[in-house]
Amino acid sequence: MKTTSLFGPGLMVLLLYACAPTSPDEPTESTAEENTLQAIFPRGQKGSEDLFKGNAYHHGLIAPDSIFTTLAGNVYFEPGARSNWHCHPAGQILIITDGIGYHQIEGQDIEIIRKGDVVTCPPGVKHWHGASPDVGLQQLYVIPNTEKGIVNWQEAVTEDQYSID
Ligand code: MN
Repeated sequence: MKTTSLFGPGLMVLLLYACAPTSPDEPTESTAEENTLQAIFPRGQKGSEDLFKGNAYHHGLIAPDSIFTTLAGNVYFEPGARSNWHCHPAGQILIITDGIGYHQIEGQDIEIIRKGDVVTCPPGVKHWHGASPDVGLQQLYVIPNTEKGIVNWQEAVTEDQYSID
């Protein structure tokens, strides 16, 4: 188990333009325009491929300090993107501001999360979160008591684990 900063080193800003051509005979795929979610904050920097599957972007809002000992930021997950399994030594609060996503605590079913939902994960409990396959997710995270630690990253979420069928 390795403790790193929330999104790991080597962040890059990437602007993505999904322009896949579609045939009128095929089922209509979601377009980038249809998946544009309401963004309250800047998209930020792309998360490390070692820690996220697909495209996830992080924008920090509150840096931890000795007064508030609380970290907060926004993560935008493109459709299909999700974090690796991980735990937060002091727990985590997620506030969903747009889109549809998944949150799963190890040993429990995937929980579908939508705009307006507030989800908590207790301290030290292994979990992951991210977008649904077809709709992205805008989430605010709050990590309290950062003196206890921020995040311990673990293995990737497999395709089987990501599937809810
Ligand atoms: Mn988390």
